[in-house]
Amino acid sequence: MTFLATEVIKKKRLGLENSPEEITELISLYTKDKLPDYQMAAWLMAATLNGLSKTETACLVKFMLHSGIVLDFSHLNSAKIDKHSTGGVGDKTSMILAPIVACSGIYVPMMAGRGLGHTGGTLDKLESIPGFETRISIEQYKKQISDIGVSIMGQTEEICPADKRLYSLRDVTSTIPSLGLITASIMSKKLAEGVDGIVFDVKTGSGAFMKELEDAKTLAKSLGNVGKEYGKKVVAIVSDMNQPLGRFVGNSLEIEECIAILNRQNHEHFRDCVDLSLRLSAYMIYIGNKADNVEQAYEMAQSYISSGQAFEKFKEIIQHQGGDLSKLPKAKYKKSLSLDKSGYIKKIHNEKVGIAGILLGAGRTQITDDLDPTAGFEFHYKIGDKYEKGQNLISIYANSETKIDEVMEYLQQSIILDDEPTQAPPLIYDEIKFL
Ligand code: URA
Repeated sequence: MTFLATEVIKKKRLGLENSPEEITELISLYTKDKLPDYQMAAWLMAATLNGLSKTETACLVKFMLHSGIVLDFSHLNSAKIDKHSTGGVGDKTSMILAPIVACSGIYVPMMAGRGLGHTGGTLDKLESIPGFETRISIEQYKKQISDIGVSIMGQTEEICPADKRLYSLRDVTSTIPSLGLITASIMSKKLAEGVDGIVFDVKTGSGAFMKELEDAKTLAKSLGNVGKEYGKKVVAIVSDMNQPLGRFVGNSLEIEECIAILNRQNHEHFRDCVDLSLRLSAYMIYIGNKADNVEQAYEMAQSYISSGQAFEKFKEIIQHQGGDLSKLPKAKYKKSLSLDKSGYIKKIHNEKVGIAGILLGAGRTQITDDLDPTAGFEFHYKIGDKYEKGQNLISIYANSETKIDEVMEYLQQSIILDDEPTQAPPLIYDEIKFL
């Protein structure tokens, strides 16, 4: 039968379910340049507005997964486990947990991303280390994983090219925030990594894409269900993103925070970041069959930090990928932001913090933008803390003094004080297991 794209789009516009054949044909034609952007965009918008069924989502996952290569690590004799975060501000756990988990004997093949919207990206953070190479070949990546248990690289053209095409179109047609499309996009890439299990950190709150807790839980379940269908062990931690994680936001600043944590310094000061990194590590160790339960796995994760093994592994990763930590750049300028009234930190508009970071040069507004690796913030207060007027609330770092002055007022608007004591939000809202 002749394939009519308009009929497939119409069905989705009317809220009906497309058959697997219809979806496969639509995307297949699009990736072969035989379907124009405007028809694909029309379908994406209809799918975003009317949703996708489980069958439709599964069909998308399958097509995108097999549009490129699927890595095979079956020659390795331990589990391969990755972590994926849905994105946040100051979210640096990947660089802490990857070495921790590798210390347990689990292989960690980590394909990381760049900053998206107001959120930061692991690749940009790592690239602030002079010489660190994230654009390595699949062969180098596989060899490093066999040799030292862990490698962190960027997405390549060979992995899920159909997702890459669709994602670019979604980015410019306001069709990113769709549960089915997000699930298919994330899961196809994670499944292509050839892992046995995935721990998701699904963020919720003012600095997350999923602002509402219920939406974050729904996404967590959607990701977990697809993983389970593919025989993977999945745990989704739903964690708070109403304030930056840890104390620092910005590429080289966050690397410094990771170094401090892995080098056993100031854990009380970096409490939320330490705790979340350990919890995520614990689930990775547990689903990778290196511990009988998550509590035991948590203790193992702690011991890799306290023995210094995790820090040694971190340095090994950096050295293998060409980075030189002794040359980590420092900002030329540092200024303090203070307020002229006292109060309790009630709220942080965390998305604004992320945007302020972009304005300062820590993130991009266009794909071609050069970053200032040193740009960022140090938060001296967390939600619930008492602030005395005139104290340094946030330190701002950058190589451009003008940019610091430009973001000062915007950043100031992101902090809301209250006279009444406020409770800090919980760090973890839920842990959903698909085992
Ligand atoms: N991250 C992805 O990889 N895909 C999405 O659709 C959203 C976030």
